[in-house]
Amino acid sequence: MNSQELILQDRHKLLDLVIEKASHYDFESYVIGISRPKDYDRNVHEQAFRQLKIEIGTELEKLWPDRTVDFEKPQVRFEIRAKKNVYVFAFLSPVFIGGRYLKHSREIPACRWKCTKCWGRGCDLCEGTGNVCGPSIQELIEPFALEMTKGVETFFHGAGREDVDARMLGEGRPFVLEIKDPRFRFPDLAKLEKQMNEGAGDKAEVRNLQFATRKQMVEAKSCGSEKSYQAQVLFDGAPPEDLAERLEKLNGCKLDQLSPTRVMKRRGVDTVRVKEVISQEIIEQNGNEMLWQVRAESGTYIKELISGDEGRTKPSIAELAGVPCKCTALDVMGIHWVPGWEE
Ligand SMILES: [Zn+2]
Repeated sequence: MNSQELILQDRHKLLDLVIEKASHYDFESYVIGISRPKDYDRNVHEQAFRQLKIEIGTELEKLWPDRTVDFEKPQVRFEIRAKKNVYVFAFLSPVFIGGRYLKHSREIPACRWKCTKCWGRGCDLCEGTGNVCGPSIQELIEPFALEMTKGVETFFHGAGREDVDARMLGEGRPFVLEIKDPRFRFPDLAKLEKQMNEGAGDKAEVRNLQFATRKQMVEAKSCGSEKSYQAQVLFDGAPPEDLAERLEKLNGCKLDQLSPTRVMKRRGVDTVRVKEVISQEIIEQNGNEMLWQVRAESGTYIKELISGDEGRTKPSIAELAGVPCKCTALDVMGIHWVPGWEE
């Protein structure tokens, strides 16, 4: 007996199998499919099962008045397959939870940074942790999301990211946590937020968790918004008296930036990127030290805008001041973008 005949022969069982499978999950929308054997023509297959699908669908609509059939983006896709026996498989779409994170530590990344030697399995280089550094914010918060949803894995999608040694302050950076194969897709977000914050301790913080969509996750990843930073700058000698005046040239200035020497290995080919500085301001100056704020186009290398990176960024604070200087600490103060789930 082929698989098609097997399904038709066991048609009376199918509804019960689907209901049993569905009892393990939390969902509002679904779709039912019948797996098509490789050598079957699509039309022949649909012809054979059309009536059966209508029968099952009608019964389920009666049983589940609050659930909708969604062919485009179902939360669960039930698939009937036959091989010796008839089975029902459930394919769960991921849950997307949007929020903002603050990073108070200069030693952790936002998302998992796997060791490049062992790719996370653990080796000598990473001292068995599987990570270059961390644990990341993702690893600090994901256990709570997995526990509440009974999902299997998370992906952390930030609206850009800061350097590991930079803090993320202000209102935080929008992010989406994608949870794969969630059995329960409607966790109590206020409770989840509280647990995540207890888990993250003083290293990080999450705020304003909301359910998001895949589209909003994609938008967050590619938002390319302006950002504000605060930097601690150290000059090699006394900066000039008219420093503030000299730096005014940076307001609205288009910078030429070559790939920073610190990321050249990763970036490969040297390309000039033009980035705009929107505005800047000296917050405090004390001897050779300065606290400086800047708002710039997405992707501007701020450390290099300060030091000039051996002439690879033009102009720079070092060039305008006429005194070598470097960034000793950097904080991201604002991401000038409102994510879809907050609108
Ligand atoms: Zn390793």
